[in-house]
Amino acid sequence: MTKVIIIGAGVAGLSAGSFLQMNGYETEIFEKHDKAGGLCASWKRKGYHIDGCVHWWYCTSINDPIYPTLDALLDMKNFPRVIYEEFCSVEEDGKILRFFGNLDLFEKELKTISPEDSKTIEEIIEGARKIALTYMHSDSNKEFYKWKVSIGEYLKKIKSSLIKKLLTNFPFSPESSMYEFLLLAARLHNKDACYPIGGAQKLVDRLVQRYTLLGGTINYNSNITQILTKNDSVTGIQLNNGKKYNADYVISAADGYSTIRNMLKGQYVDENIRKLYYSNRYIPQYSQIYVSLGINKVFNDSFKPYVFITLKNPLIIEEENINTVGITIHNFDPTSAPFSKTVLTILIPIKYTESWINLRKKNKEEYERKKEEIASHMIEEIDDYFGDIKTKVEMVDVATPATYIRYTNNWNSGVDSMRWGTDISWGTDGTLIINKPKKEITGLNNFFMCGQWVGDAGLSEGMQSGKDVAQILCQRDGRQFKVIPTVKGEK
Ligand SMILES: Cc1cc2nc3c(=O)[nH]c(=O)nc-3n(C[C@H](O)[C@H](O)[C@H](O)COP(=O)(O)OP(=O)(O)OC[C@H]3O[C@@H](n4cnc5c(N)ncnc54)[C@H](O)[C@@H]3O)c2cc1C
Repeated sequence: MTKVIIIGAGVAGLSAGSFLQMNGYETEIFEKHDKAGGLCASWKRKGYHIDGCVHWWYCTSINDPIYPTLDALLDMKNFPRVIYEEFCSVEEDGKILRFFGNLDLFEKELKTISPEDSKTIEEIIEGARKIALTYMHSDSNKEFYKWKVSIGEYLKKIKSSLIKKLLTNFPFSPESSMYEFLLLAARLHNKDACYPIGGAQKLVDRLVQRYTLLGGTINYNSNITQILTKNDSVTGIQLNNGKKYNADYVISAADGYSTIRNMLKGQYVDENIRKLYYSNRYIPQYSQIYVSLGINKVFNDSFKPYVFITLKNPLIIEEENINTVGITIHNFDPTSAPFSKTVLTILIPIKYTESWINLRKKNKEEYERKKEEIASHMIEEIDDYFGDIKTKVEMVDVATPATYIRYTNNWNSGVDSMRWGTDISWGTDGTLIINKPKKEITGLNNFFMCGQWVGDAGLSEGMQSGKDVAQILCQRDGRQFKVIPTVKGEK
């Protein structure tokens, strides 16, 4: 049997392993952590279940081209999920703007907030409608061309500061294109974005179960330090304890930086790799502080991933002033907290620096103090906004860039690596061109990469990436690629 070793049990590695098992390969995953999931992370604290990842799960409508991949791995028909009616709300001076999934409702809401922007609002909604009709069928539609304009540039047409705020809050920034914003609006309209009940944990449990039922093996606490090669072909891997394992193929579904620069020791560097890993152009800039609070209280009104609130006092992290934060009220997932209690999570994007890692190493007490300070600031602000919070906080948890690096190895630790290496441009005829890093490396045989470090970012794209790489191997070996459907009761 052809043996394949996969580095990393994130969503991409688990998917690659499952599709290869379906096609008669013998696979083994090596994962450095003691559990699977990678950035699709979750953890338990004092009876509360913290989802450290999923805010939206795309491509989950039956019409989406990636849906069959998800179905083959997760049995989508029997996977309970919440479809967002609203993506988020932003507020200013007592006024609230809600980002509805339904474009008719969204248009009405925008016009109510700012009648003087009516013409621009109509243009935005028309753009989202056209994209909603086309994005599932083609990436190269000329309609997209019109929206390559950056959000920062487009804002010049908008008068309402509340609409401006909506367009520039996470996951968007002034540098994002309007196309990205409209694609999200289009996905919401098509009910192609949701939240899995049970969160990141449920997603990962199902992926692990699928992989192991297909006969795959996961080795936890197995930190790979070297990819072994002979005559420019990979022969296996070596762990940090010196143990070596042979394989016919190695797939790295781990982060790109440690794959290229550490495990391969920088030996295979073509022009493309040099541009990505040895210049400043693509280095991820943003990481995150992730605050989670367990509140002994029910929050009635919410069905959306984000409520953006303006802070009374800015949160200052490394000289950066943070004035707005997005809070997720997890009351749409009954598994997230004990009965009549609620988990709130707050993802605070911050510029990445190594200071969190250094502080944790050199002065753990000060590191913990800083985390407490951030949590107390958030509790004050949330109490001020919602009322009746302070006395009801039962659980406080703060993850920093050091946490994400420790558990997943991800270079510069997090959310910004999702934009890794993908160049979007438009051809002279107006077609959209998406250039992603390649899944193979020039000059090295029998080695592949998949996951967010080859530009397949996010949960669904990560799973698709694993399938794509399995297909490449099958093609290489002259095997007819096949998909084995999930069996009822496999959950
Ligand atoms: C805070 C946050 C929020 C996010 N929110 C969303 C969201 O709402 N929706 C969405 O679609 N996406 C979201 N993402 C992105 C999504 O989580 C990632 O794109 C996706 O999980 C990446 O999967 P992956 O398998 O490519 O990589 P990873 O998850 O990084 O998996 C790589 C695995 O390799 C292991 N590994 C690394 N080095 C080694 C080694 N030397 N030896 C052995 N194992 C190793 C790691 O431990 C890890 O388990 C979010 C990401 C973050 C950080």
